[in-house]
Amino acid sequence: MRDKLAKELIELDKKRLYIRKNYKNKLINSKKKLNKKDYIYFPKSVVSENNYQLRYGLSWLQNGFILKKGDNVIAVDPGVNFVLRLTESGFDLSNITHIFISHTHLDHSADANVLMDFMIRAKSNVKIIAPKSVYEEKVISDFHSGLKQKFPVNHSAIIINENSEIELLNGYKMTFIPLQHSVECYGFKISGDNYNYTYLSDTSYTKELITKNNTIVPITNITDYLKDAKSKSYHSYIKEFAKDSNILIVNIDSFMYTKNSKTHLPLQDLLEILKDNNIKKIIIAHVNPMGELKYYEWGDKLAKYIFCISKIKTYSIKNEGNKFYI
Ligand SMILES: [Zn+2]
Repeated sequence: MRDKLAKELIELDKKRLYIRKNYKNKLINSKKKLNKKDYIYFPKSVVSENNYQLRYGLSWLQNGFILKKGDNVIAVDPGVNFVLRLTESGFDLSNITHIFISHTHLDHSADANVLMDFMIRAKSNVKIIAPKSVYEEKVISDFHSGLKQKFPVNHSAIIINENSEIELLNGYKMTFIPLQHSVECYGFKISGDNYNYTYLSDTSYTKELITKNNTIVPITNITDYLKDAKSKSYHSYIKEFAKDSNILIVNIDSFMYTKNSKTHLPLQDLLEILKDNNIKKIIIAHVNPMGELKYYEWGDKLAKYIFCISKIKTYSIKNEGNKFYI
């Protein structure tokens, strides 16, 4: 009995390794040629209508997008299920050239190791771009960042700060801005070819609010909803960084100020950033269209409101994924 079973297992081992090798060959031979068109792509999220666990906790963690410009294919903030959502949409992961992680929070980094593991197996060269804390806190492991392991291909882990400037392919460059969040957090700008694409990750813009009774409340003290509050002062360097963007990708948390506005942008603050700042198009990300609310009434209405005030064309992200040609 035991010998018979051992024999079967040896055969299964062979079969398994053979199948695995075939998949590997398929992967290497099926690398899709990059299309000439440039785009920003948000993969679909995995949310079922009546699943309260997905709708409550997990839907808004499914962050992340791909920015393709020339030969640069940048995976930005790979949140929960990023790899699954991309592959299920038919996206060829082996085309990715850079992985950008703005900060250590799960909704911006959960799938970084998963993605890197694939890139290592696919032998695709990739550069990881992230602030120091992402490496220090092992959000991306030493193994997956290549810091403690020599890979057969030329991966590299780049630590960024506000003075970093990264040369991308085809003459594009990437510069960075420190943001106002609960942990170290950076946004970026990709420029070249007379185009600027700016991504503001999680950030507050307001330093202080002034309430209806003229009380000044530092943003760090907000404990609850201050419906009638207005901004008293701004982190104006953020507005300066976003200036002249052809596309501004921005994470919006709410319409009015809430306790989350300490570390995220409410729409009121985005409007201030847009004012006389020569921004051509906006993509609002990080809203949670299928979480608390059904359908797209939230994101679409935010987009409409921005257009009403600023006349800037604005898109909101849909649950089934979006591709914006740029
Ligand atoms: Zn965050």
